[in-house]
Amino acid sequence: MAGLAKTGEKVLRGIPASGGVCRGKVLVLGSREQKVARLEMTEADVPGQVARFEQALVQSRQQLLELQEQIRARVGAKDADIFTAHLLILEDPLLVDEVMKLITEEKVNAEYALQTAIEKYVNALEQINDELLRERTADLRDVGDRILNNLLGCVDEHQLNLLTEPSIVISHDLTPSTTALLDKTKILGFATDVGSRTSHTAILARSLQIPAVVALKTVSQELATGQQVLLDGYNGLLIINPSDQTLFEYGHLVRRQVTLQEKLRSIKDQPAVTLDGSRVLLSANIEQPSDVEAVKTSGAEGVGLFRTEFIYLNRESAPAEEEQYQAYLSVAEALHPAPVIIRTLDLGGDKFLTHVNVGPETSSFYGWRAIRFCLHRRDIFRTQIRAILRASSRGNVKLMYPMVSDTREIEEANALLAECKQELRAEGRPFDDSMQIGAMIEVPSAVLIADALARRVQFFSIGTNDLIQYTLAVDRMNEHVAHLYQPTHPAILKLIQETVAAAHRQGIWVGVCGEMAGDPVLVPLLLGLGVDELSAAPSVAAQIKFLIRRLKMSEARDLVAFALQCEDAREILERSRQLARSAAPSLFETEL
Ligand code: PEP
Ligand code: MG
Repeated sequence: MAGLAKTGEKVLRGIPASGGVCRGKVLVLGSREQKVARLEMTEADVPGQVARFEQALVQSRQQLLELQEQIRARVGAKDADIFTAHLLILEDPLLVDEVMKLITEEKVNAEYALQTAIEKYVNALEQINDELLRERTADLRDVGDRILNNLLGCVDEHQLNLLTEPSIVISHDLTPSTTALLDKTKILGFATDVGSRTSHTAILARSLQIPAVVALKTVSQELATGQQVLLDGYNGLLIINPSDQTLFEYGHLVRRQVTLQEKLRSIKDQPAVTLDGSRVLLSANIEQPSDVEAVKTSGAEGVGLFRTEFIYLNRESAPAEEEQYQAYLSVAEALHPAPVIIRTLDLGGDKFLTHVNVGPETSSFYGWRAIRFCLHRRDIFRTQIRAILRASSRGNVKLMYPMVSDTREIEEANALLAECKQELRAEGRPFDDSMQIGAMIEVPSAVLIADALARRVQFFSIGTNDLIQYTLAVDRMNEHVAHLYQPTHPAILKLIQETVAAAHRQGIWVGVCGEMAGDPVLVPLLLGLGVDELSAAPSVAAQIKFLIRRLKMSEARDLVAFALQCEDAREILERSRQLARSAAPSLFETEL
């Protein structure tokens, strides 16, 4: 783009995580690991430091009360209890006295006194042989961070929804649980130092349609709250102090997008069928029941992946059967008769529950997660299966298991499912006895035993996000190896081909719900590989349908014939891009 090098303007390049352009003031979040310096004070400075500390306590108390109220209104009184615990810590005279003593006797700055006092209490709690007390250290640190951020004039991620002025958030990182709570009316977009396209934070940003750029390295240190930026989530750019020329060019880009959106709306109710008559099912991925509205407007023909773990996040206890049932039912009813595939809890990786302690793990993506965790914690699994079964009574719900790596897992899960059906029958509760059961294919071993797995389920859904990371040994969260995370790697294409072949040999259907299905550049390959369904974020589903309707299956098959004998991932990517671009050039107009 011309004008990017103008004086005063600075362009930072990262990884595009969620499309869209926004412009405004930034808000830089405080880092959890900030260390403060010890500053020696004079006798005359002491009252000022005491007053600053008292003021930070008042501010912290006010924020906690507001957050408590918000959570109570959103998820219920029980989950708001966490803030009651925080308020008690905040008012603990031992802690307050300790900080005051350090300020007045040692004559140090309030930040240093606070951090020293918090460390002292955390160390003392960690020595005690009581798990419950040890868990309280996290609360103590949280409260300490809050007071510290108020002293330093920084905002922390829990305060984001208390903002009054819409802002672009800049942070070292954002957790998926914080991202899930972002309020679009207050957060225009976000940019982080670390991250990747397939982290759940990026996936959520696309779902919420919040523009985002990740892996900007040191952006959180380079920017200060209040600076003006333009965030380009299409191309992964953050432009500090954008020039008039840049703003003018982005004005054009945004207008082209508006025209494209109009075109996309006009095919909303048309089927996803290629020019030569091949029909694919186009579904949407969702994370929360409120996403159904976006599914309806996207033109998707149902839900191909409901990531249920987001119902479990940001709360003090697991949701009860009734609450889950209502959540699943609301989606199933809103979209009826379109199919809704509900994935059972995929805890782990980058998603952790505050109410379930999985203990320290050396590598959370290879650890105690997803179906492995559920088969161990049958209480949690049973509650969820019962809720899904009950929500299936209208006949449009399907259930699928994540991270399957062995036939035994499906057998055990299906045995539990049969028990749940038995219970519901005895209780006289209706459910769909013929509800389809699916397995996600996201571990290489699952592909290698795909025939055996296919004999135990009614469908497959390929989770390319994990399949790529496990096959190529490339952490999907790590920006340093993001260049090695290649969906067009010949090994990945062979695994997809083998999965489709095994599924069809065994007479079941197969979809793709990983992010590959939402990337117009990669869709020609997936079509040519013969998948029956594509499931993508609602924000991109319409584009995928638009592209499918402009492609010929014969061209997609030719592309795959080339790709399967090609040895170079980049060459395959380029060929697929060329085909997509020539079929639907307007989808690529946001590229600079
Ligand atoms: C996947 O791995 O491709 C997938 C769809 O699941 P998730 O991104 O939630 O791990
Ligand atoms: Mg996965």
